[in-house]
Amino acid sequence: MDAAAPIHTDALVIGAGPVGLFQVFQLGLLEIACHVVDSLPAPGGQCTELYPDKPIYDIPAVPMCTGRELVERLLTQIAPMRPRFHLSQQVSTLEPRDDGSFDVTTSTGTRFLARTVFIAGGVGSFQPRHLKLDGIDRFFGRQVFHTGDARPSAAGQHVVVLGEDDAALEAALLLADAEQAARPASVTLMHRRDAFTAAPSTVDRMRAACAVGRLRFVAAQAIGWGATDDTLTHLTLANADGSTSSLPTDLLIVLWGLSPKLGPIADWGVQLERKQIVVDTQKFETRVPRLFAVGDVNTYPGKKKLIVCGFHEATMAAYAAAPYVFPDRPVQVQYTTTSTRLHRLLGVAPDA
Ligand code: FAD
Repeated sequence: MDAAAPIHTDALVIGAGPVGLFQVFQLGLLEIACHVVDSLPAPGGQCTELYPDKPIYDIPAVPMCTGRELVERLLTQIAPMRPRFHLSQQVSTLEPRDDGSFDVTTSTGTRFLARTVFIAGGVGSFQPRHLKLDGIDRFFGRQVFHTGDARPSAAGQHVVVLGEDDAALEAALLLADAEQAARPASVTLMHRRDAFTAAPSTVDRMRAACAVGRLRFVAAQAIGWGATDDTLTHLTLANADGSTSSLPTDLLIVLWGLSPKLGPIADWGVQLERKQIVVDTQKFETRVPRLFAVGDVNTYPGKKKLIVCGFHEATMAAYAAAPYVFPDRPVQVQYTTTSTRLHRLLGVAPDA
């Protein structure tokens, strides 16, 4: 357990999706510095994880940008606010103190003492979808790897890749095309049926690699496994044609993507309605004072799960949090076009 002193912060943003990032910006305009935590290794939430290359058409004044471009623009926009990111860690506990501030801890032991907290957790933490076969978890991290895991060399190994999207097909092709020294003994791509959500061009490349014998595709599901001396040796398959077979397996790579889990948020004393946090529509505050919820994670009458709605919620929540952070300072709305104070904060003042 990390015994280090907690990081003191005026604001903690949980979730670095588009709404969490814009929350940082609005807090920054009010001179509220913040730390940001996300369970993923990079900012962007659903935009980065689920549709990085798909076009978005309903961001005001941006006729079209991809999910990845939106995140890049938000990161550029918030750079002057100098947020400090704590990635690849999930916020696991959040407990209010008597003075209203919060003790917060993450899965990697980082601790915060935060005066205000903004839950921008979207549909929850993204976790890799695991292979569920009785007892196979003993090989996790040794011979069985999932989305996001660092993997060992596959040279000389019988490798099986499970999956059917671009990430799975590209991973199988990369292994099949490896240089002589790094080449696996065999590469098998496995999916329960011969149909893929990967881009058609990727599927064509996969089929071409199968045609020349560099890669093998099997339409099957793993229903069992075998081992010798605690080393995984093969998978038992239920084939699409109803037969069963055995597949030599030294390295099993499960690329079934990520699935969102609301996770520990449910334990933080907030009121939930269908797994979403109930907030008011003036401050976007939960029933716990100083604890705000913005973006896809919240609910209120008329809620729409759209990025533009999340941006509004983040703006309102930032203004509502300011009196908690600066109790003696009146909160004023200022324009970024004309305010010299805001120009200094944004680093665009002539003397900046
Ligand atoms: P998210 O983007 O879900 O980000 C939440 C982040 O919080 C995640 O990174 C997660 O890892 C993190 N997190 C959660 N819990 C924890 C925890 N305990 N500790 C640490 N981190 C945590 N919207 C539009 O407006 N226009 C569109 O065209 C559009 N297209 C879409 C297309 C697709 C395919 C999908 C799936 C969605 C689309 N959306 C669109 C919806 C839009 O992506 C969401 O409304 C938006 O991502 C919500 O942003 P958010 O920041 O609230 O949450």
